[in-house]
Amino acid sequence: MDSKCWSCQEETENSFCVKCGKIQPLSPAEDYFAALGLERKLNLNLPQVEKKFHALSRKFHPDFFQGKSKEEQAISLENASILNKAYRTLKDPVSRIEYLLQVEQGSKEAILCQVPFDLLEEVMELHTRLEEVHSLKEGGNSQELKKVKDYLQPELARLEASYQALKNQIQRLSDEWDGLKKEGEGREAKKLKILTDFRQILSQRTYLINVIEDIRKVL
Ligand SMILES: [Zn+2]
Repeated sequence: MDSKCWSCQEETENSFCVKCGKIQPLSPAEDYFAALGLERKLNLNLPQVEKKFHALSRKFHPDFFQGKSKEEQAISLENASILNKAYRTLKDPVSRIEYLLQVEQGSKEAILCQVPFDLLEEVMELHTRLEEVHSLKEGGNSQELKKVKDYLQPELARLEASYQALKNQIQRLSDEWDGLKKEGEGREAKKLKILTDFRQILSQRTYLINVIEDIRKVL
């Protein structure tokens, strides 16, 4: 990163200018991992991340800049807000992966567009059954209702098992991502494979969570 102090134009890479001591904005080129002083990895030591977050937040805390110029106050507010967003995003393991996909490959929307046909079909079938439950409830048909529920119960157990399997896959992929060598033959291809698998798994995960919730509601 090469940047100049906004106030005195001195070259500075620190959060505070080496010459005039004024607070510097976090670089917009920096991602959330970098903003918190982390490598772009998925297995994070959360207590350590929290410590870093608190230390940086103290450094930029707007309270310290109340007597300073408007510019410095604005920068401290902006820095504090970036840090908050960074911490909130990276704290959660799933939003951490979504964010990684976003910084590595752009747009978050693409994450939700690749669901395997089998799963789509299965979910559609389950929704039909769920609608049945609702109309049977309204009609007061308890015998038929029991039948549908007996069908849904093992389906729910199966979906929960699939969800667990996805979680394991996510962990395995995270380990693979963290184990990627900095350079070397085949690195880009491996990287692309991991990111593509992540997209696929995350969209399946969203589908599963929704349908599991819907079934739990009626059982
Ligand atoms: Zn300066």
